[in-house]
Amino acid sequence: MFPAGCSMRGLLIWSVLLGAVLGKEDFVGHQVLRISAADEAQVQKVKELEDLEHLQLDFWRGPGQPGSPIDVRVPFPSIQAVKAFLEAHGLGYTIMIEDVQSLLDEEQEQMFAFQARSRSTDTFNYATYHTLEEIYSFMDMLVAEHPQLVSKLQIGNTYEGRPIYVLKFSTGGNNRPAIWIDTGIHSREWVTQASGVWFAKKITQDYGQDFTLTAILDSMDIFLEIVTNPDGFAFTHSKNRMWRKTRSLTTGSSCVGVDPNRNWDAGFGMAGASSNPCTDTYRGKFANSEVEVKSIVDFVKSHGNIKAFISIHSYSQLLLYPYGYKAEPAPDRDELDQLAKSAVTALASLYGTKFKYGSIIKTIYQASGSTIDWTYSQGIKYSYTFELRDTGRYGFLLPASQIVPTAQETWLALRTIMEHTLNHPY
Ligand SMILES: [Zn+2]
Repeated sequence: MFPAGCSMRGLLIWSVLLGAVLGKEDFVGHQVLRISAADEAQVQKVKELEDLEHLQLDFWRGPGQPGSPIDVRVPFPSIQAVKAFLEAHGLGYTIMIEDVQSLLDEEQEQMFAFQARSRSTDTFNYATYHTLEEIYSFMDMLVAEHPQLVSKLQIGNTYEGRPIYVLKFSTGGNNRPAIWIDTGIHSREWVTQASGVWFAKKITQDYGQDFTLTAILDSMDIFLEIVTNPDGFAFTHSKNRMWRKTRSLTTGSSCVGVDPNRNWDAGFGMAGASSNPCTDTYRGKFANSEVEVKSIVDFVKSHGNIKAFISIHSYSQLLLYPYGYKAEPAPDRDELDQLAKSAVTALASLYGTKFKYGSIIKTIYQASGSTIDWTYSQGIKYSYTFELRDTGRYGFLLPASQIVPTAQETWLALRTIMEHTLNHPY
């Protein structure tokens, strides 16, 4: 496919040309701005900006509490208008990313350089981003290497017909209490799927070696859904790296996709999601309209014995618990808060990465129809959401060199939550 012996630069030019031929969305001259809104009035101003559809803004971190940063990708043609708007309303901003496309080019270059196919999970490169096909073949290798410990379940098919797979880690028993972990429900959060791959390998390495994980797997099962939004993920590789939603069509709209983290049956339709199919937080026509969501709902209900449910996103470095749709504290708030504190302490012990923690609504903003509000409503007490690295320097475009450190530190927090779940049966 590529001329033999060509240089890295040559490969890069080749890949950019290939991208153009394949009709990939380009982000040349797009900037990511970090806006600071000091008070509620300024937050409202940013919300006005958000409603100006013609600007085609992409909020990476939406407006929330006064004082918390707001990150927005601004297409090149809108940059002057947005900066003028911010200056006119006294909103401060800094440029976080000068040119989004140059980060995307670096990411592509890195992927091309390390794309060799591996024949086992030992030679698999965990320090680069992978396509859906590569991740699916990784899962098959892992299952083949550890048939006594790992199996692959298909819980459904996506809107576009792709299989939806979950890895089951089990040492036996019958419908044991279980821990669920999912990554990648928002497709552009690439460090999450990459971390999911690393977690899968880590579980097979640590069983029988690490005392805690061995104890966990001797009485509980772990379910891991690495690519929770396969259609969206495939689309981030083929057409638009910034795609977040599913790829379902909505009748009466030319806009595609539903936010699968606003589509769950908990506070569905309340404030904290959009009814406009053209926005990135579109909730869908009805709860569970997205087959990627419904497949998990059906699985969780039919399993009936899931004790911890952890849904992993990026970015912002947060560990969150219910609720997202209402301000009322969750009945288990104190225990959830204490456990979150222990988990982020364990996480920070490795590289010093600091995570904040708290309820979704208090820590970021109101979000309705989110995953863990639903799982909590089903009686799954240990329901958590992570937002992994970073805090915005690269945002969704985290360099591949940070994949393994991110996964390693996150694993310490996951292990803390799983161990607590094991030791506090309910
Ligand atoms: Zn997300």
